[in-house]
Parts: sequence; C-alpha cells; structure tokens
Amino acid sequence: MNGKDKYRDFDGNGFDITQLQEWDQKHFMHPWAEMSSNKSKFDVITEGKGIYLYDSSGKKYIDGPGGMWCVNVGYGRKEIASAVSNQLVQLPYASPWTTTTEPSAILAKRISEKTPGDLNNVFFSTCGSTAVDTAIRFVHFYNNVQGKKNKKKIIAREKGYHGSTYLSASVSGKERDKRDLDTDTNLVKFIPDVNPYRRPSNMSSESWCIEKINDLEICIQSVGPENVAAFIAEPVLASGGVIIPPKGYHKKAFEICRKYGVLYISDEVVTGFGRLGQWFASDEVFGITPDIITCAKGLTSGYMPMGATIISDRLINKLADFSEEPTLFSNGYTYSGHPAAAAAANKNMDIIEDEKILEHVREVSPHFQNRLKMLGEKYDIIGDARGIGLLGCLEGDLGKNTSESDALSVDYKFSELVDAATEKRGLFVRPIINMCVFSPPLIITKTEIDIMFDILDDALSEVQNSL
Ligand code: PLP
Repeated sequence: MNGKDKYRDFDGNGFDITQLQEWDQKHFMHPWAEMSSNKSKFDVITEGKGIYLYDSSGKKYIDGPGGMWCVNVGYGRKEIASAVSNQLVQLPYASPWTTTTEPSAILAKRISEKTPGDLNNVFFSTCGSTAVDTAIRFVHFYNNVQGKKNKKKIIAREKGYHGSTYLSASVSGKERDKRDLDTDTNLVKFIPDVNPYRRPSNMSSESWCIEKINDLEICIQSVGPENVAAFIAEPVLASGGVIIPPKGYHKKAFEICRKYGVLYISDEVVTGFGRLGQWFASDEVFGITPDIITCAKGLTSGYMPMGATIISDRLINKLADFSEEPTLFSNGYTYSGHPAAAAAANKNMDIIEDEKILEHVREVSPHFQNRLKMLGEKYDIIGDARGIGLLGCLEGDLGKNTSESDALSVDYKFSELVDAATEKRGLFVRPIINMCVFSPPLIITKTEIDIMFDILDDALSEVQNSL
C-alpha cells in the first residue's frame, strides 16, 4: 500500500498517532500558527463525552475551556449528529440567495424570539468573525444609504477580541495579535482597558466606571459624532481575560451611544446561548437592548460552523422607509443559513430548552464562582480570580509591584506552568499570556465543578511551591 492509499479510506480508526502528528506538524496550519522550524507537537484528541475529552492514549481530561468557549451542551450528543445527518441526506444545500429551507427559516424565527426588544432580523454567517464582519458592513451600509458617507468610524476597546477577518481583526484590541499583521487602522478608535483589576488602588469601582464612560464620550467627541458609526463591545471581554466591566458600565455606554447617534453592537459570540445563564446577556444580565447582536459558538455548541448577526427592526425599517427603490445589502456567504448547520443549531436549542440548561447554569454558577474566588485567596501567585456565570479567569501575579507590561513578560510563566500542571492531572485550561481561563460545557454538575477545582487547587500548589 502506498502512502496515499493509507488515508483514502480513513474510517476514524487505527491511524498511527506519531504519523498523524507528523502530518499535522508538516501540513496543518493551525490558528495562530507558529512560524518555527521546531513547531509544537499537538495532542491528538480522539473522543468527547459530556464534559470530557480523551486523547489517543485514552487519557481523560475535563475540558475546562469547553472547546473554544463553544461546546455548551457537551460532547457526544447523538441527537445533534442525527439531526445533521438526516438533513444532509434529505437536502445538504440550497442557495440562500433564491430559496430557503425548513431548518434555517425555523432557526431564524427561534433566534428572534430569544433576542431582546426588536432584534428580529437574523443574518446567518459561518462563524463569529463573519458575524462581526457583517455587523460592521451593515452599519456602513446603513449610513451610506442615508447619505451619511463619513459616519464610518468604529469605537472598540483595548483587549477586545472580535475575530480574524480583516474587519473583525481591525476592531480587535489585543496588541500582541496585531504585531505583524495589517489591519484597517483608519477605521477604528480604541478606548482604554476597562478591567477593574487594573484600576489605581485608591480608586473605587464607581469612579472607575465614570472614568471608562468618559473615555468613550471623549472619544466620540474628538472623532466627531458625525463620523462615528458604532461602538462594538463584548458584554464580558472573553479572550481579553474574562474582563467584567464595572457595574452599570454597559447601560451608561449605551446611553452615551444613544446621545450621540452611535449604534451599539453587542458581540455575544461567547456570552450568547447560555454562558451567563440566559440566551443572551445584553439585556437579561446587563440591561441593554443593543442595535445589533452577533453570536456563533454556542449557537451550535460547536457541532457545526455557524454565526449570526441579529439586527433590530428599527434599523431595517429605517432603510426600507428611506429609499423608494429597494436597497440591496450586498453581503452574504454561500453557506449563509446552511441547512445542516441550522439543523444542528435547532437541535442544540431543543437540548438547552428540554434539559433546562439555562436554569442549571444559574444554579451552579455561584458554586463555580465561589471555588474560583477561594483559589484567588489561597495562592499568592494569583493576582486576580474573576468570573461570571460559567466563565472564569485566574490572572497571575508573578510580576507583583511592576507595571502591567513588565508583569506580563514575567507572568507568561504563570499560564505555562499552570497549564502543564493541570494537564498532567487531567484538566485542560486555556492559557492566555498571563492568565488561565475557563468556560466548561454548561452541563457541568456541581460534583464535576468540585473535581475541576480540586485539580486546579492541587496544580496551583505544585506551581507555587516550584517558584
Ligand atoms: N467575537 C468574540 C467575542 C470571540 O470570542 C470570537 C472568538 O473567540 C469571535 C468573535 C470570532 O469567532 P470565530 O473564531 O468563530 O470566528
């Protein structure tokens, strides 16, 4: 058998793991691909069940990050697999330009019932990045049609992450990610980090909130409201390090946006579909009805790729009223509303409803947050232990008493060490620079939360003692 025949009839069983790792290293360019002649060798994951992943040696791990903040209903859901399989057999594809399908029409209706206020218009895309791209393209289109050709700037926040297309990366505020990549710097104005942990030690949370809102207002005023199209914000900055803005921040930011005629895009790619115990967090947790919501990840729990941009009736109606000729929003993807992805999303929503997963998240989150806080209090190497819902972050404090940028270079070690110590004990965490973040499948039980935090406790004790 030559090399090619070996994988032509791949049936998911029996490949030599070393061979797979070699092909992977040689040919698979992963996200955030390392440009090095000595690339990392990745573990091969072969199976998932509930909150657990299994590697090729059969070792079991709790999936602390829930895939990439996405596997909300957990692994091994045969009912989603069947829904996708049945749909593929019946109809794998129909052009969304000229036709619709049962699962995608049903899904659009169902999503619009879960969103706050008049957010009733669902534009399907393929992931979170394309959902954000669509949101930005829409606000530009919205202003162009009204003849406001200069109203284009987007205000975004340092440490925000919104995706990896040119537009969504341009509004993302993680400096390290942009070091060697181009983005549209003309399009965006960034306002400073909102992380309450980084406020001066003598400043109250209320004063910090006022300062952060001032940052937004001053930015709008300096660019000129006539030039600002939208403000984009994650309700909780996820990959920036689970940053929860100070109390009342979103409401005040929303009021400022309204005051100056700036649209509010709430990026719920992580918070949507149950992470904070609600379908969407914008209104139910933070009290605002934005103009546009973006979502992805938990929409299908990662079983199929899909994203959505949900736009308010107010905006859509305004455009309809504005021009006599129908105006075309010439933006779309071959796979917008893909029937198999929509079937996965519908089944995912059934599971969330039938198993009362939102209620479950609200019930177990206080225990999760409590265990997280206790680690923060117990270990000196932790600077901040923060979270909300089933989101958590441990931020290292190896660089105590240094500036944030100096601390970051020392603290790289923190996430590396914690990652190694937890993996050894059967827990995956997500190391990000000086932090480890968690967003386990939402079905995690109280007992499993305890197992997860017991492993972390043990691992942190090893790391602290080693330093
Ligand atoms: N928006 C937020 C808040 C995210 O966290 C992410 C990804 O992590 C994205 C957008 C981009 O989503 P995707 O990776 O599906 O393109």
